[in-house]
Amino acid sequence: NLQATTTLHNGVKMPWVGLGVYKVKEGSEVVAAVKTAIKQGYRSIDTAAIYKNEEGVGEGIREGIKEAGISREDLFITSKVWNEDFGYEATIEAYETSLKKLGLHYLDLYLIHWPVEGKYLDTWKALETLYIENRVKSIGVSNFQIHHLEDVMKYAKIIPMVNQVEFHPKLSQVELLSYCKLHNIQLEAWSPLMQGQLLEDPKLIEIAKSHNKSVAQVILRWDIQNGVVTIPKSIQNHRIIENSSIFDFTLSSDELKQIAALNDNKRVGPDPDNFD
Ligand code: NAD
Repeated sequence: NLQATTTLHNGVKMPWVGLGVYKVKEGSEVVAAVKTAIKQGYRSIDTAAIYKNEEGVGEGIREGIKEAGISREDLFITSKVWNEDFGYEATIEAYETSLKKLGLHYLDLYLIHWPVEGKYLDTWKALETLYIENRVKSIGVSNFQIHHLEDVMKYAKIIPMVNQVEFHPKLSQVELLSYCKLHNIQLEAWSPLMQGQLLEDPKLIEIAKSHNKSVAQVILRWDIQNGVVTIPKSIQNHRIIENSSIFDFTLSSDELKQIAALNDNKRVGPDPDNFD
């Protein structure tokens, strides 16, 4: 069930599955996707300032909660501060801008989008301020490697609650995942479907067939069974539904191992140690 949650180290509950809206167009496209997802039972939406669709996400939220008969407090909304807005003051301002665009009074999670060298510590301080002042429910990072996390934790008053990174069967992040588990940082998978590139994998097809499920469902189930929050993106109604129908089957430990064996450290996105 889509309301299933993990509990972050500050006690806030975060849904295991959410809708990602990277590359979903501002305007009617994103409004419809968010509204459909909420009506289908999704409670978590992942956007970012740089996706340039926060206004439409906000409208989709308002329409979705009305039609689903729920309230804003039932939702878990994430956005991210973009690299160009890093630094203490600029981050606080960027947060307010995101809130305004979304039409919300608070976010459930605000993330540092990328570990921009020399800039993410001040940015983290701003997130701590927003959290301490109770303007945001939880704070975290994205695309942080172990060394970035160690660096932040040396200076931080608050340990990040979440680290959102590229994670899928071809990039299973074994060391980072166990590091995050050790420090109670919830790992969250972006591009969980490798942007569609994994759907023809013979091993995944074989496992999917044996459960009468799709490859996408097997991958997303694998995330959850690994203790990783997942945020697949789709704008198609039937896929939005499909991607959330993953709570009625279980992968065996042998199947989990077979999927983990597909890892070859292959990325679709930039390397966090070497990006523009
Ligand atoms: P994804 O792995 O979720 O793949 C999405 C694509 O897979 C869709 O466009 C569609 O072509 C296909 N697809 C989706 N569901 C399917 C299904 N059931 N069957 C067949 N094909 C299907 O890729 P993504 O959008 O890059 O990642 C998900 C979300 O993660 C983003 O929307 C965004 O919210 C977040 N993200 C964050 C970062 C970051 O730096 N923090 C980077 C990239 C993405």
